[in-house]
Parts: sequence; C-alpha cells; structure tokens
Amino acid sequence: CGIVGYIGFRESQPILLEGLKKLEYRGYDSAGIAVFTEQGLEVTKTVGRLMNLENRLSGEPLRGTVGIGHTRWATHGKPSDVNSHPHTDNTLKFSVVHNGIIENYLELKEELIHQGHRFLSETDTEVISHLISAEYNGDIVKAVQRAVKKMRGAFALGVLTEYEPDRLVAVRYASPLIIGVGDGEKYIASDIPAILEHTRDIYILEDGEMAVLTRDGVELLTIEGGSVAKDIFHVDWDL
Ligand code: GLU
Repeated sequence: CGIVGYIGFRESQPILLEGLKKLEYRGYDSAGIAVFTEQGLEVTKTVGRLMNLENRLSGEPLRGTVGIGHTRWATHGKPSDVNSHPHTDNTLKFSVVHNGIIENYLELKEELIHQGHRFLSETDTEVISHLISAEYNGDIVKAVQRAVKKMRGAFALGVLTEYEPDRLVAVRYASPLIIGVGDGEKYIASDIPAILEHTRDIYILEDGEMAVLTRDGVELLTIEGGSVAKDIFHVDWDL
C-alpha cells in the first residue's frame, strides 16, 4: 500500500507510476492514478499488478501536471476495479487516495446515504471523498479539516479537487506520509524512495499534521488549523 502525488510542470503520469513502483515492496493488490487533464479530474484504476495499470494507460495516457497515485492493500472490500483508489464523490469533482482504515466508516456512510450520496464501492475510503465533497464550500483545506475531524482510524491521504486545480492536500494520522520539495514542483509519498530521484529535500509529517502543496510552496499545518514550523530533512543516502 502506497501513495504518491505530484504538482509541478512535468507530465505527472510517469512520475506517479515510477513512484508507485518504488513502493511495490510494501505489497498491494490494485493500483490507480487521478490526473487533472484538459477534461477535468480523470481516474484510471485497476485490480492487479502495476503492469496492468501501465498497459491501460499506455493506450490512453492521462496528461496533466498534477496527479495522485495509489497502490491498495484491501482492508474493506475485495480487490476489484471499483474498490481500487483513487475514489471520488458523486459530483466527480474530488479525488482521494488513502492508506489506512476508517473505523467509523459505516456510521459516516449511513449518514451520507441519508443526505443523498450514492456509493459505488465497498471501501471505507469512498466515505472520505463523499465527506470532503459534503463539507466543501470553497476551501479544500477547510473541507478536509472538517472531514478528517469526523473520521476515526488511521489515514494518510492525498486529496485533489477540480475546484482548486493548483493545490494538492495531504494529511497524516497513524499512516506514514512525507512531502518532497523541488523547484517549481512538489511531491507527496508514503516513503522517501518513491521520490528520491526527484528531490532530497523532505518534510516528514507527524500524526495530526497536514500539508497544502502548490507548485511554488508547501504550507504545513495541523488538522485543527494551527500552523506548523519544521525544518527540511535533507536525505544524504542513496538507494
Ligand atoms: N482501507 C482502504 C481500502 O481497503 C485502504 C487500504 C490501503 O491502505 O491500501 O481500500
């Protein structure tokens, strides 16, 4: 199970796929990516090896300079195309990758269904994309904060919304997540090897922290909204 995300000026698909390959050692049963293309937020995902995903994408690449990718180790819902990440909401404006488990997802799901949300998958993760969509009123950071406060469990998240295509939001609680800092490009990943070929300047998120990435900067804050100051960790080892 792994997460990779990119916001910059290069094509994101190859960066996401290469990053996911470096995270294969963590184990997985399915994989997928979401990219902002000219058509909007587009998702390609499939059960099985990364090779399956690559084959599917080689015919129909997702072109764009912002994207998130995921390898899944199923905990809630069998390995299948629909249960693979990224997950979206009914408006198709939000896209989420998640490592971890949302313990109270059934409760949240019932509430959302009651509000009119329709679910496609059996995963705990799909609840997160619907919840963020429900909480959204113009600021993705606030929506993610409100959503996360309702969730119990473990989560590393990468979140994109079509409403704010120049931002990538990352959150960590009890699942690992790091931020990579490059010149005009920023990354998220479950582990350093996934992005080491691109940058050696890393922020290591702690539990309860989140990051808002733009091409030119990284804002670190807590889930509660407080600001966080931390030093860049410079990686001086090689793979
Ligand atoms: N609980 C989520 C799922 O089953 C995420 C699993 C993971 O960490 O890959 O889809």
